[in-house]
Amino acid sequence: MSNLTAFESEEQDGYIKIDQYNQKQVEEIASYYPAILRALGENPEREGLVKTPERVAKALQFLTHGNDVDAAEVLRSAMFEEEYSQMVVVKDIEVYSLCEHHMLPFFGKAHIAYIPNGHIVGLSKIPRVVDAFARRLQVQERLTNEIRDCIQETLKPAGVAVVIECKHMCMAMRGVQKQNSVTTTSAFTGAFQNDVTRSEFLRLIMASLD
Ligand SMILES: [Zn+2]
Repeated sequence: MSNLTAFESEEQDGYIKIDQYNQKQVEEIASYYPAILRALGENPEREGLVKTPERVAKALQFLTHGNDVDAAEVLRSAMFEEEYSQMVVVKDIEVYSLCEHHMLPFFGKAHIAYIPNGHIVGLSKIPRVVDAFARRLQVQERLTNEIRDCIQETLKPAGVAVVIECKHMCMAMRGVQKQNSVTTTSAFTGAFQNDVTRSEFLRLIMASLD
């Protein structure tokens, strides 16, 4: 993260929001957008568009900043030895990602469980792992597997379960498929490959799978 510099800060509702951008990358991405706007038949000089290239560049940088996050390190920073060995479920984690085929958003919820095997992890770290992999150019299937593999390899639990349900704007906005369809993906390791354990997990998250 050392190549990032605090670029602007603004006070909002009493808290200081600090956005960090790689200024060189912002400038490079922004430099292409006047040509893209012209190719779309727009006038990049008109008032509403003058700052658009820079805004788009910053947005894209933010939406892909997961590339700079070491998700395993996020988990390792809050792992504790603990004998607890029942299922730990974190559900309704917000997911915002960018489909790598169209660079349009897909978003929804992730439900994650693991069964500790000597270690537990601070609960707030699970959503941060989701974010680390979601803030990249992604497909939902790979996102699901990357979260599962990161938790399995780092925490070494008796099993990991990941279910993600998302709406894809490339489907909804382009009207190519049912507008409100939700895509569900899942990935399991260890104990969750057992029907009874997996069913218990699915029952626990079912309230939000509607
Ligand atoms: Zn897409």
